[in-house]
Amino acid sequence: MTPYINIHSHQDDIHNSEISVRNFIIPKDEMLLTSWDYSQFFSIGIHPWFIPTRITESLQTLRHFITHPSCVAIGESGLDKLIATDMNIQKEAFIQQMELASEHDIPLIIHCVKAWNELIDIYRQVRPSSPCIIHGFRGKPELAHELLNHGFYLSFGFKFNTDSLIQCPIDRMFLETDEENLPINTLYTLVSEIRSCNEKLLKEQCFNNLRNLNKKLQVSLKGRTFAGNK
Ligand SMILES: [Zn+2]
Repeated sequence: MTPYINIHSHQDDIHNSEISVRNFIIPKDEMLLTSWDYSQFFSIGIHPWFIPTRITESLQTLRHFITHPSCVAIGESGLDKLIATDMNIQKEAFIQQMELASEHDIPLIIHCVKAWNELIDIYRQVRPSSPCIIHGFRGKPELAHELLNHGFYLSFGFKFNTDSLIQCPIDRMFLETDEENLPINTLYTLVSEIRSCNEKLLKEQCFNNLRNLNKKLQVSLKGRTFAGNK
């Protein structure tokens, strides 16, 4: 049975019919990692809202976890114009994480609020070799197309622009619950209705999208079995 993929979640509850990539924000969530079930996938990163003064230590933590078989992405990391943190500090933290992700050929999960030009400039400058996924994308179709043309993947949560969701190619999209405490399968049902596509196909495509992100995921996903709830 193909599992539901939830590419970005802050919830601990994971149904065995899904693969949920639990996000840990460093250093804020560092204590939670001590009791984490490491058979479950997770991502780890320095969020622009919580950039520590001693960033080198947090980058060391990222380097420590990045080689773990269940650590499947760096992030969420990114740029946010609605917060007070200096944009240069945000850029520095973001670039370091983009380079780290590239160095380890691991996907990068991106948080971006009103800083799309800055994001694209950094992307052009760093030229990451690993896939970059914009999480919680709510932008209009024009922005979606621009990001897709650059090579980004788009991940949609419960709040989205319907036209962007419809127009995003199925092989470049993910779905996520982020901070919502709602089951991911309800989002798959909603999205398959809006896109007029079969839910099973959507589920299979999102699973393939995850598997195709890098070799580590292909290896990690091999042999895992999942219960069905559909
Ligand atoms: Zn999040």
